[in-house]
Amino acid sequence: HADVAMYEAKKRGRNNFQFFTPELNRVADERLNIEAAMRVALDTGGFEVHYQPKVDRARRVTGVEALARWTHKELGPITPDRFIPVAEETGLILPLTLAVLRQAFAAGQRWNRERQSPLRVAVNLSAQLFLTDDIVGHVAGLLEQTGLSARQVELEITETVFLGDNDRAVTILRDFKALGLSLAMDDFGTGYSSLGYLRRFPLDTMKIDRSLVTDVEREPEVAMIARAAISLGKSLGKTVVAEGVENAAQFDFLALHGCDEFQGYLLSRPVPEAAIDELLAQHAAI
Ligand code: C2E
Ligand code: MG
Ligand code: MG
Ligand code: MG
Repeated sequence: HADVAMYEAKKRGRNNFQFFTPELNRVADERLNIEAAMRVALDTGGFEVHYQPKVDRARRVTGVEALARWTHKELGPITPDRFIPVAEETGLILPLTLAVLRQAFAAGQRWNRERQSPLRVAVNLSAQLFLTDDIVGHVAGLLEQTGLSARQVELEITETVFLGDNDRAVTILRDFKALGLSLAMDDFGTGYSSLGYLRRFPLDTMKIDRSLVTDVEREPEVAMIARAAISLGKSLGKTVVAEGVENAAQFDFLALHGCDEFQGYLLSRPVPEAAIDELLAQHAAI
């Protein structure tokens, strides 16, 4: 690929020689390394799933969000912010998502068998999956294999889903609804598409982005925007969830203004499956 970079640089002409920089090479190298290492990890079960609880206003756990985790033998932990974009560009997002869904559904089925009140498991779906793959068929197949009820599953999608082929996206989301799954709009308040999709798409939940939660207790403008977002979600009949809640002042403010559920370090970081077992056992004992 160094040759490719050299070729590109030449093609752009001598005056654009800055294209061929060590920095660009380093970034390209890292991507190739991550891609190659991801292929190995996918073949060898190297991706794990951690779970972050969501709680209601009484701080009872209502569900957990599955978040992919990867620790490379030499490089150490690699965060989703680094490997998800590579997975999305290379098509590895499908096998990665299937690995996360399989683990999360199996865990969800176990938790729901072991406790009285139902627990919902949420999984993040990248927009790319809506364009190329039979994602509905894959999800339906994994529900059948694990025995988990569709009622216990929520799919978190971002606004980027609505930037592509809207008709196709609507069809897929309706198919998911027909299976009985819930749909959540993730990172609400960070996107740039029109609000019209809130009417067109069958969403159950709106997750207010962390950027509208951080400093909500200190910055009047952040507070105004967060209140408007919550009020918009509630008036449309959605369940409103706040993400990235880190302190009690944020929790209280958001609860006061109508937020239904909360997620963030105040309540729990994402933790391994076994730690959720313990958390649920403690809650059951109360
Ligand atoms: P997200 O879906 O919005 O998940 C929330 C992220 O915020 C997680 O980061 C979580 O660890 C972090 N977080 C939760 N509470 C707090 C808090 O109180 N403070 C702060 N500072 N951070 C908090 P994580 O696990 O690094 O994931 C980052 C993003 O990567 C996720 O954002 C999601 O978009 C993506 N991602 C993770 N796993 C998957 C996956 O299996 N599939 C897909 N498509 N995307 C994934
Ligand atoms: Mg999410
Ligand atoms: Mg989010
Ligand atoms: Mg986010």
